[in-house]
Amino acid sequence: MSKITSVKGTLPGPESKRLMEIGRQYEAQCQGYQAPLVWDRAKGVVVTDVDGNRYIDWTSGVLVTNVGHCHPKLVKAIQDAAEKVLNCYEFPTQPRVMLAKCMVEISPPHLDRAFFLTTGSETTEAAMRVAKRHSGNFEILSFYGGFHGRTAEARSAGGLGSVKRGYGPTLPGFIYAPYPYCYRCPFNASPETCGFLCLEYIDTVVHCLSTGALAGLIIEPYQGTAGFVFPPEGYLKRLESWARSQGLVFILDEVQSSYGRTGRFFAMEWEDLTPDLVCVGKGIGSGMPISALLATSEVMSAIKPGDLGSTLGGNPFACSAALAVVEIMQEEKLVENAAKIGEIMKQRLLEIKEKSKYLGDVRGRGLAMGLEFVKDKHTKEPAPDIALKVIDSSAQHGVLVGKVGMYSNVIRVAPPLVMSEEEAYESLEIMEEVILEL
Ligand code: PMP
Repeated sequence: MSKITSVKGTLPGPESKRLMEIGRQYEAQCQGYQAPLVWDRAKGVVVTDVDGNRYIDWTSGVLVTNVGHCHPKLVKAIQDAAEKVLNCYEFPTQPRVMLAKCMVEISPPHLDRAFFLTTGSETTEAAMRVAKRHSGNFEILSFYGGFHGRTAEARSAGGLGSVKRGYGPTLPGFIYAPYPYCYRCPFNASPETCGFLCLEYIDTVVHCLSTGALAGLIIEPYQGTAGFVFPPEGYLKRLESWARSQGLVFILDEVQSSYGRTGRFFAMEWEDLTPDLVCVGKGIGSGMPISALLATSEVMSAIKPGDLGSTLGGNPFACSAALAVVEIMQEEKLVENAAKIGEIMKQRLLEIKEKSKYLGDVRGRGLAMGLEFVKDKHTKEPAPDIALKVIDSSAQHGVLVGKVGMYSNVIRVAPPLVMSEEEAYESLEIMEEVILEL
């Protein structure tokens, strides 16, 4: 069987090097660390750089291209839409109304309204605004390690110092509770026996920090940016019951976890959650800039016509793409494929963990997994330098990965959901070699 990947010489290749030098001269260098190469084109899970090197992609952009890079049906939908109408602010269009219908139909039954925006940050901000209007209160409870975007309110809801430092004060009106990061439990407890100590602690947080004006809470079903931190089973359902008992609006940030990532269309399906508001982004457009807020009509009735909007939100072009994405996912059974390939990959990665000195934790579900690197498996001291080595070395061998984590020491395992067994095995083989050579 011929190899899918092919990397000749030491990266960067000559054309990548040339373009990167121009970029360094003219572009603000705000991007995080990436392996030294310049993408030229991509198809399915295979990326080709400007020097003709081929890689298997474990990034999906940043968990965006769920239907695979440049899926022909998505490309065709975008081309057709571009010839019709690119933008028309707030007038209904056929793609927008049909997408609203489609999204309500694929969502759990209690969610009966969809509202379209452009980015993930916009949808988390909109959700918090709806919660405030609906409740008449203004405080939001959010979580250590949370990431809800980089705009002011989203950033304030987040629990990652790296998104906040150096920009002055965050907004008042946020209180924070620990997320169940069991590999690094803030209570030094173990998930098998702790009885969800971190959940109980939320009462203390509210008692000590709230002014008595809590509107709602916002949480990710798993914390992607903090390092693919998955809560133990049952945590989210219990949190939801707690939120209900307090009369809070429950906002689930599925910007990253929806559209099949975890092996279910929405991550909320794993525990039959019934959030009032669900933020959707990334995979919804599989590369086109679109996001959505899914809501109950009851909560959404707090917003009157004209009170929420966005210049490019719900534009017919992006909505046409998002309709094609759902069709592709259904036709190609991509949710099922994510579950199947995810299981294969997880088993193998767990085996690699046993053999590796530095791979401290392998966690996740479906095609949303994290590899946490540590200097020592007993002390669990984070090893961001090793994560950087993995990025470079895996690219050199033909796999593209990205880095996340509260301590910048977690490698993302998040390929497009179209990944085949053959692509999974070849990339796992490469990864094993890279990790065991560290
Ligand atoms: N919420 C979550 C859970 C995310 O992962 C992200 C993006 N990483 C956002 C919100 C923000 O999305 P965007 O960058 O599109 O604004």
